[in-house]
Amino acid sequence: MKNREKLNIIIAGTGYVGLTTGLALGYLGHSVTCVDKNTEIIDKLERGISTIYEPGLEGLLESKGNNLTFTANLTDYLPQADLVIIAVGTPSKSNGDTDLSFVEAVAREIGASLNEGTEPLVVVNKSTVPIGTARRVESVIREELEKRNLKCSFSVASNPEFLREGSALHDTFYPDRIVIGAEDMRAFNLVRQMYAPILEQTFNPPQEVPRPEGFSLPALLHTSATSAELIKYTANSFLAMKISFINEVAAIAEKVGADIVEVARGIGLDKRIGPGFLNAGAGWGGSCFPKDVQSLLFAGSQYGCDLSLIQAALDVNRAQRKRMIEKLQQLLKVIRGSTIGVLGLAFKPNTDDIRESPAIDIIAELLDMGARVKAYDPIAAEKYRGQFPDQNVQLCDSVEETAKESDALLLLTDWDEFRHLPWAEISQVMSRRNFVDGRNMFNPEEMTSYGFSYSGVGR
Ligand code: NAD
Repeated sequence: MKNREKLNIIIAGTGYVGLTTGLALGYLGHSVTCVDKNTEIIDKLERGISTIYEPGLEGLLESKGNNLTFTANLTDYLPQADLVIIAVGTPSKSNGDTDLSFVEAVAREIGASLNEGTEPLVVVNKSTVPIGTARRVESVIREELEKRNLKCSFSVASNPEFLREGSALHDTFYPDRIVIGAEDMRAFNLVRQMYAPILEQTFNPPQEVPRPEGFSLPALLHTSATSAELIKYTANSFLAMKISFINEVAAIAEKVGADIVEVARGIGLDKRIGPGFLNAGAGWGGSCFPKDVQSLLFAGSQYGCDLSLIQAALDVNRAQRKRMIEKLQQLLKVIRGSTIGVLGLAFKPNTDDIRESPAIDIIAELLDMGARVKAYDPIAAEKYRGQFPDQNVQLCDSVEETAKESDALLLLTDWDEFRHLPWAEISQVMSRRNFVDGRNMFNPEEMTSYGFSYSGVGR
């Protein structure tokens, strides 16, 4: 094991995971090189401009000091590196399998640049990857070395990431657990050393990311690479299943006149169940759950395992988006020709990420059905316009503007700023006062008292 505390770390990919991890490790005193193939991202980061929205990130970027370097070129920094963390995207292919081309491109680059005579490199898979990818990365690096007749020593570890967008820095500094999947003890020890300040909580918390009161030290799990890979997919599939479960129960709650918020609280207080991820609503989305659930299902099909619970979670989630439209139909009767004001485009609050956001599918369906769509999101509107430049959606600057002359409001992201608006006044500027609360953000009686015909989920 290295006896110096400060490690030289390369992070390949500076998206939500790579940038957050890089800033955090730099703050903890390691020397970090953040690499991204997208030179626009590197240019901006070099100028101190954050390329993603995450609470606290900008402040940390401003005060980055000398510990952080941004570059598009991994090769130059490889000779000094102790660890290379792979944090590139792993999107779904159309058959549900995972596209590993970005991960393999990094592995090839490492294999093509590694040289004899340096200390053994540890390559860490932080991207969410299918079972067997640690071995696959190892064989790709080896292939490249063989092309040059080199026999460098290196090893590959799996270190899945559990951060949540919207609280990515907080989750990085104060995780529940750190999982290191490594058969090679040297690799395990080096990754543990990298995380030592977090595992022992020996750092002074950054101003932007204070340590939660009573925070207890994170658990450290040493597993095989295969178990680590499966832990990540299982965690996301379980959380997705929990949301789909409560959404399924919400349907029966509506029929029998129960309130799903009361039901969720009633079951969530049971420690075996826990209160998290039991909010009925428009369903899950984002860059992780959909592709990770698909990927585990694909692995099930490859290994002859019928993962019917996980398949059901996916099916319920698809149906849940359609239920938002059904709710509008119940209130408006006819969608064609109606103006719908969508509140929230991001897949959840405090992020600008719209990947697989329920709002994307629902807006597309509403447009297909002949509705006029207006939309407002405090942060994600720009990303939406960038990704759907031709979509006929009027992006508004405020909730009030969105409500003006709309026949219904459809809330799809529970941004905090929606909570305390003058809803009685807002209802007055609408053509018809209908409100579909796709996140159960509001009290039904209160919204009714403001003049809305209100429809929540499961209540
Ligand atoms: P992202 O799309 O935000 O970022 C990936 C970055 O990698 C991009 O900026 C891209 O330009 C860069 N890249 C692609 N190929 C490259 C290469 N060869 N060399 C250097 N850079 C390259 O992705 P993300 O959301 O940060 O996710 C990264 C991985 O982490 C994924 O596997 C994801 O499933 C996983 N993960 C994501 C989250 C999350 O909340 N976003 C949480 C846990 C795990």
